[in-house]
Amino acid sequence: MHGTTHIAGPCDLHLHSSQSDGTEPPAQVMASAHRHGLRTVALTDHDTTSGWAEAADAAASLDMLLLPGMELSSRHEWRSVHLLGYLFDPDDATLRDLTSRIRSSRLERARAMADRIARDMDLTWEDILAHTSDGATVGRPHIADALVSRGLVRDRSEAFDSILHPGGEYYVALYAPDPVTATAAIVGAGGVAIVAHPAGRAGLLPAPLTERMLDAGLSGFELGHRENQPAATRSLARICRDRDLIVTGSSDYHGMGKPNLPGEHTTAPEMVQRIIDRAHGSAPVYP
Ligand code: AMP
Ligand code: FE
Ligand code: FE
Ligand code: ZN
Repeated sequence: MHGTTHIAGPCDLHLHSSQSDGTEPPAQVMASAHRHGLRTVALTDHDTTSGWAEAADAAASLDMLLLPGMELSSRHEWRSVHLLGYLFDPDDATLRDLTSRIRSSRLERARAMADRIARDMDLTWEDILAHTSDGATVGRPHIADALVSRGLVRDRSEAFDSILHPGGEYYVALYAPDPVTATAAIVGAGGVAIVAHPAGRAGLLPAPLTERMLDAGLSGFELGHRENQPAATRSLARICRDRDLIVTGSSDYHGMGKPNLPGEHTTAPEMVQRIIDRAHGSAPVYP
């Protein structure tokens, strides 16, 4: 299929389902993407591949090209770094161990945050579970939804700005590997690694860290994303051009969990082709 397949646009390579912190099951995410006109998509739930099978069936029946993916949690010092991985082998032992360690830490961490919040507010662990799909990667958005249904905040955004804020007394950190280890895990599993929303409010990653990630096989950056800041994005775009890196643009759709809509940023079909050509861990689902 190398270089010969026609990639139909528009392409959006960053979508979340209720297997992590999106609000729609994988099949519904595919239907929403299709309704917004997308013809090539990737499902990128946080730290899990559990939505792949359902998304693949739905994408096939909608005649969409699907790149199975994931958004892998990592951390550098205080900063959370999200890595988009595409077309890796979901059975790779190293990557599986890493993601299962992150997911169990997320579960413990959500319980710890719930305990802290419960000291001051009317919120139970059961409230949070009620907002988390079976087998989903749990995160602060699920706690936010429980806070909303208890009437303690208006929406997820208000929860993140107040009770769930990293600077606040209720916040507990989760375990996440350093970005170089996370990059190597995706690449080692035959996947393509792209830094998600690399020019957000925290600013660009330190240049030496970026170099070490590139040495570990990082392929590029998600330059099209609503959280990216214009000046930092322009300087990163120059680096991508000079070094011929892969650049993507995507919505980071979370269903009703965020205002982001499918297709609000898109990826050029040539870039999708480069991702497919570089990956060897799993196959895209062709229409
Ligand atoms: P966690 O990884 O559990 O610490 O939670 C971070 C997740 O929360 C990210 O994946 C975001 O998608 C989501 N998130 C962050 N800020 C907001 C917000 N203001 N509104 C809704 N979701 C958010
Ligand atoms: Fe998320
Ligand atoms: Fe992210
Ligand atoms: Zn995301």
